[in-house]
Amino acid sequence: MNRSRPALLFDRMLGRLCRTMRLLGYDAELNREGESGRFFLNAETLSRVAVTRSRGLRDRPGARPIVIESEEIMDQIVELFSKLGRKPDFAPFTRCLECNELLTKEPPESVLGEVPSYIIKNFDEFHRCPACRRVFWRGSHFEAMVRKIEEIEQILSD
Ligand SMILES: [Zn+2]
Repeated sequence: MNRSRPALLFDRMLGRLCRTMRLLGYDAELNREGESGRFFLNAETLSRVAVTRSRGLRDRPGARPIVIESEEIMDQIVELFSKLGRKPDFAPFTRCLECNELLTKEPPESVLGEVPSYIIKNFDEFHRCPACRRVFWRGSHFEAMVRKIEEIEQILSD
């Protein structure tokens, strides 16, 4: 199976799945608000795999969308990888969860004044989103996300 990471476009019902895929390092965009009628056109224009909850859209002509039927986030992830026909290829913590942009590495001196000084003292690796300028480091929230990723890896390897 192909291990490359396809670019994805999610309909607005799948916001949580979209963010989770960003956490895993996938290029995952959420369809823009008010553009549900342009969902497939947007996916085509952006060369993204369309991922939707709407079963009614399954039989339209053109590229077939992936229709997610599961309700729970973990089930949705399993279903998505199974329907993509690709092995998971995670690159966790490389993208901004809000913007989907690839994060850039920043030395501590470049985030001075933006991050509390005790954080600067305790961490030496920082990342920044070029779009929203948020700075990220491997703090307490990070451990929870690592556990979540390990759980996903575990489920997908079964
Ligand atoms: Zn951002």
